[in-house]
Amino acid sequence: MLEKGIFTISIDTELAWGTFDHGGHIKYREAYEKYRFIIARLLELFKGYEISATWAIVGHLFLDSCHKENGRLHPDIVRPKHNWFPGDWFSCDPGTNLSKDKFWYGSDIVNMIKDAIPQQEIASHSFCHPVFSDKGCSKETAESDIAKCVSLAKEKGIELNSFTFPRNSPGHLDILSKYGFKIFRGKGDVYESNLGPEIIKKTLRLLNDMAASRPPVVMPNIILDKGLIEIPSSMLFRFAYGASKLIPHGFRFKRAKKGIDAAIKQKKIFHLWFHPTSFAWDSENIFREFERILNYASEHQGKKELNIFTLREIRRLCQSNVIRDSFNPVSISMHDDRANIFAKEYSEDLRDYYKSAFQFGRKKIEDALLGFLSNLDKGRVILDVGCGAGYYTNLIKKQGFRCMGVDRSENMIRKLKSSYPDVPVKMADAMNLPFSDSSFDAVISIETLRYFKNRELLLKEIFRVIKPGGYVFITAAPLFSLNLYGIYNTLCRLFKLRSIVSCYQSFETVASFKKILEKSGFSNISIRAHFWGPYFVLDKINPHLSSKLIKRFEKFDDKLSEIKLLGNLSNHLIAVMKRPVKL
Ligand SMILES: [Zn+2]
Repeated sequence: MLEKGIFTISIDTELAWGTFDHGGHIKYREAYEKYRFIIARLLELFKGYEISATWAIVGHLFLDSCHKENGRLHPDIVRPKHNWFPGDWFSCDPGTNLSKDKFWYGSDIVNMIKDAIPQQEIASHSFCHPVFSDKGCSKETAESDIAKCVSLAKEKGIELNSFTFPRNSPGHLDILSKYGFKIFRGKGDVYESNLGPEIIKKTLRLLNDMAASRPPVVMPNIILDKGLIEIPSSMLFRFAYGASKLIPHGFRFKRAKKGIDAAIKQKKIFHLWFHPTSFAWDSENIFREFERILNYASEHQGKKELNIFTLREIRRLCQSNVIRDSFNPVSISMHDDRANIFAKEYSEDLRDYYKSAFQFGRKKIEDALLGFLSNLDKGRVILDVGCGAGYYTNLIKKQGFRCMGVDRSENMIRKLKSSYPDVPVKMADAMNLPFSDSSFDAVISIETLRYFKNRELLLKEIFRVIKPGGYVFITAAPLFSLNLYGIYNTLCRLFKLRSIVSCYQSFETVASFKKILEKSGFSNISIRAHFWGPYFVLDKINPHLSSKLIKRFEKFDDKLSEIKLLGNLSNHLIAVMKRPVKL
């Protein structure tokens, strides 16, 4: 549940691009003539109420001109082939410039929105308005279209995070995610579903508007494997054109008010969307109704019952609040609570590696890590996922590498910053790392995987941020280790004895560990086991004896590492692997 209700507005800004495939650039001329005035007036309203909206702008409108190259407009775009528009998708594009054809170019509009106060979010509504869910929009079309949007926005210094789909019909989510989008508007109620013929849905939707029924309020839908968040739409703010003229003006506010009330009460999102053309007919009345909505929402924002957010702001909220692995919430708070203890265990001046099983285990990991690092060229960039209080991150740095740590525990990060002020660190969810693809030469992740139920998502995220050919060093907790903790914790989980373990964890056998690493795409996997014996138990009974035995048997213990069959009984599994270079 959200802390409080959210009202969000997304505006599909497309001019002729939104309708040309159905002849709309001619049919709606009257509306497009008023387009810029409408946008200016909306921005004035937003200024008055201090509201930021999400403007999803068609990429072609970022241009102030375009022309043919070798007889073709936009040769870099793989043409959509929708069966309702058999010709070349760009056959209506005039190939001229803004002063000649202002329905097709809109760099002035982009600038107007970009310079608005308060700051508005600029999002994407595709480059040339293909219908992503239709089979006529191939993967290649989607990719060339989205890539173009991203590069045009970049030229204007705009980073695109949010997307609304043409005809509000999502498709090719993997491409969206590949190009750095984080959040998109999804389909709302059944009237926007793929069910049934268009005419029936339209009629139902109209009846819905006519009845001023309460629109749905929605929750973010987190699409884990794509790293995307979907915010379904709640209500389309309708124009007064065609059959929609039948809707009494006031019903627009009436419905929206019900939506806002529900968002406040249920702590959910009311997502209103429209096109600027909604205001083109019967303008005064429609603007008045819209202003009533803004006024109502802003009143409730003033009473601290409601947040008015852009899509990007909702995404930020999700990122900081939603923890997406069911093991994580408890393990994060456990690490927050014990940050001091962990930091002390790792602190260098007090360190005696034979003092306890915990310390000795860390020695084995550290020895293996130093071996791993010795094979890498100095100066490489290494990410430490689940860096905790930063001991290993700093170790990497001391070895002559560039490093970056991420952790989800605020207290751990605070500890890191005070112990190692020069070590760069970010607070982030390991399943949603704030780095672009192929950013690191190597990744290490020590005693982190065990705190994830869905380990594959973590591993795939590591795979994403590491460069092809880069190496990973990662540890796992063995299920059948002689210290019996794996079995103990697993039994507690199976019998739901939550209160007697600090948090549920994931444990591996050598085989399951290997399998999951392979499944996540890694190759050249080598797994080694370290440290045998029930010392964690002995530590509790007779710490002095435990410490003595650990030291006494270290050499013997190292020898056991060579025996593959014993891996499952060890206390630590360490894998080294590679992200394959694609040929
Ligand atoms: Zn063009």
